[in-house]
Amino acid sequence: MEVIKMDCPNCGAHLKRQQGEYFAKCPYCDSEIAFDSLQAEATVDTYRQQVNTFETMEAGRSRIRLEQKQWNRLKYLLIAACGILNFAGFTMVGYCDLKETESLMGPGVCALLLASAIFLAAPICLTLTVPDRDILTGEKKPGIRIKTIIQMYLILFGVMILSIVLAAMFFI
Ligand SMILES: [Zn+2]
Repeated sequence: MEVIKMDCPNCGAHLKRQQGEYFAKCPYCDSEIAFDSLQAEATVDTYRQQVNTFETMEAGRSRIRLEQKQWNRLKYLLIAACGILNFAGFTMVGYCDLKETESLMGPGVCALLLASAIFLAAPICLTLTVPDRDILTGEKKPGIRIKTIIQMYLILFGVMILSIVLAAMFFI
């Protein structure tokens, strides 16, 4: 049986009691002690601590959730910018080629250069800022950075190819 240590509420003497014992007399000051109410207080304290821990964890969770949301927004913005600039660049350069004009060459090349810059830099930027903690456990996700950089290069590569195919369809 578990022995529970406690102090006498009257004289402060250290007492021990068996679990399941609810009533006793302090051997030092003879005061009668109802363990039940002490136990109840202890239980309330434990619950209070659990609620505090839960609230702290919840605050942590909503912070991670917000970080994840902002990061996702940045990710989709960069993917969209890369695709749109690449599409616009190829369309303008293709148009110049078709019509044998130089009018849209400058903006077209600029758009292609910008798309390439985003293609190279966005995965690194997103990998450095990716929220690396699990929302439920708050623990670090293993390998999140390596996964993110590979995934981002693959997605952006796909977006580049798709935008080139879409631009080419204009000229067929
Ligand atoms: Zn006592």
